[in-house]
Amino acid sequence: MSRQKIIRCAACAGRIKPQHPHIGVEDLEAGEEFSYHARPECQKRCVEETVTRLEAGKVYAAHHYHSSTCPDESPGFGCSGGCFDTPMAVAN
Ligand SMILES: [Zn+2]
Ligand SMILES: [Zn+2]
Repeated sequence: MSRQKIIRCAACAGRIKPQHPHIGVEDLEAGEEFSYHARPECQKRCVEETVTRLEAGKVYAAHHYHSSTCPDESPGFGCSGGCFDTPMAVAN
């Protein structure tokens, strides 16, 4: 398992470090996955683009990849590692 693929953010085209938190949106038919940074701008793009694709009749599964240092065993939004801001807390 030495081959490591480079992940790029579909919103800003920047590189995503695999050990950093990010979001994956998987096209279940094509087996393709779009990745996005966990930061609010990229997450917003992620939501917009996913809605557009869903409207086109595609089926997706979203994955939240937490930081490699995240201490939560079953991490989700608002995890103690602070990987993803809870949507409510983004404002201000
Ligand atoms: Zn990005
Ligand atoms: Zn986390």
